[in-house]
Amino acid sequence: MKRKISILGSTGSIGRQALEVIEKLDDKFEIIALTAGSNTDLLNKQIEKFKPKYAYANDINAIRGAKILSLEEICSNKENDIILVAVSGKIGLKPTLTAINNGIDIALANKETLVMAGDIVMHAARTKGVKIIPVDSEHCAIHQCIKDISQVDNLIITASGGPFLHKTTDEMKNATVEQALAHPRWNMGKKITVDSATLMNKGLEVIEAHHLFNMDYDKIKVVVHPQSIVHSAIEYADGSVIAQLGLPSMHIPIQYAITYPERYHGIKSKSFSFSEIARLDFEEPDREKFKALSLAYDAGKKGGSATVCLNAANEEAVFEFLNGQIKLFDIIYAVEKMLSTHTTIQNPSIDEIFEIDNEIRLKTREILKYTSV
Ligand code: NDP
Ligand code: MG
Repeated sequence: MKRKISILGSTGSIGRQALEVIEKLDDKFEIIALTAGSNTDLLNKQIEKFKPKYAYANDINAIRGAKILSLEEICSNKENDIILVAVSGKIGLKPTLTAINNGIDIALANKETLVMAGDIVMHAARTKGVKIIPVDSEHCAIHQCIKDISQVDNLIITASGGPFLHKTTDEMKNATVEQALAHPRWNMGKKITVDSATLMNKGLEVIEAHHLFNMDYDKIKVVVHPQSIVHSAIEYADGSVIAQLGLPSMHIPIQYAITYPERYHGIKSKSFSFSEIARLDFEEPDREKFKALSLAYDAGKKGGSATVCLNAANEEAVFEFLNGQIKLFDIIYAVEKMLSTHTTIQNPSIDEIFEIDNEIRLKTREILKYTSV
């Protein structure tokens, strides 16, 4: 029987690659809904090709060839077996919760969902018996390595190190938008690419891992691995380390997440060759240059609304950086400032999370007004 799937954010980097996977496995999937933000042209092409029943975009009047349903309505539609949440930003949170509350499994790319409301989302998933399969390559790797989480001592998350890995702090401080977007390994959306340049992405991933695998922050380690071949690893209580390897392609984790627990040839184009790769390097992250990592650990350990604050301040500052308004290090300045003045609320409700998110975004924009490029 075909697996019925909807993709939130089908016009983005993950969404487009997911459709490439589905095209290869077209006898395995039926697409229920596709959604876009502003790229309705691409959405309409996808509708023509993949023939979903439903679609959504910011400009609903421009959609052709599918019935219109909102993200919430798509996620309440029990026709779906699984929903791939590949929108970027906070827009992913409420639809994901709606899908979980309707008993629909989730392939989760949108890491903000867990950073903002990991406790609520994971609790809802456990209560409803819903599977959350990570798409993020590191978490997907860990998911593939774990047999019994209670026997795991440490999670080891790899980081490529981004474009500034071996640049000086000064070179990084004065980086242009173009330099920050020139990621050596991965071709991703702009926001996550900037996060990879500051290593905030790794920080968000540590928080994501904490929620997905219910693991203490002290047991989540980050190691820099520039080749991006080892996608992450786990260390068992007896000292045995299991890692997942593969070429750096998001097709693999996307396919894993949407076909789990099955595996198919699908998108595989060639066999993995150790001798072609030849070497794998690992090093400690430079926590002075990449302060974002420590900020994320601190926020994660505080818990509650602290990670909402971290995420909101970071996202607003990244947008300002992408718009040429601030320097790369001002992002870290803004996050640090917001975290140091934020009073953490434990166990915030979803409404409180969105209130805090809004408040932090306003404050971040305000303080960034007084920095100039
Ligand atoms: P992109 O920016 O490439 O795509 C984002 C998608 O979300 C697009 O389809 C966009 O629509 C849609 N979207 C954005 N804002 C809205 C909105 N307000 N309402 C409705 N739809 C909206 O991002 P990525 O694909 O790179 O990333 C998606 C998520 O996956 C992020 O949370 C990211 O952290 C995570 N992720 C991405 C990885 C990657 O390799 N790219 C790896 C691991 C995680 P449109 O383009 O039509 O405006
Ligand atoms: Mg990742």
